[in-house]
Amino acid sequence: MMNMIEERHAAHLDYAIEAALLKALAHPTRLAILYLLRDGPHCVCHLESYLGLRQAYISQQLSVLREAGLLQVNRAGWNIYYSVSDPAVFSILDKIQAMTGASSMSALTHPQHCPCPECQSNSKKC
Ligand SMILES: [Zn+2]
Repeated sequence: MMNMIEERHAAHLDYAIEAALLKALAHPTRLAILYLLRDGPHCVCHLESYLGLRQAYISQQLSVLREAGLLQVNRAGWNIYYSVSDPAVFSILDKIQAMTGASSMSALTHPQHCPCPECQSNSKKC
């Protein structure tokens, strides 16, 4: 099916894994989620109160990150906590921020009120 020219350029297919990873990263909400997980594992309700977005929408973005192998999930009693599988992702985020000069992180540090068990037991956090 491929002609000669296409075959010669098929080397770009070797980057499919890298491209899939970057594709998973290339979304404002998913980037925001990763920034929030920088200080440790969090439940969906914590992400919900920091991002001000609906839980169904956040869950949808979390599953994209999970499928890309960027997140791991741990269950603790009734709660499900999300964390990054490899902290190396933060060095990518740092590089992107350095390149763009963006400082979106400050917008995420002041939630209205977080009802998650973690924040309720640690009032310093929220
Ligand atoms: Zn919380």
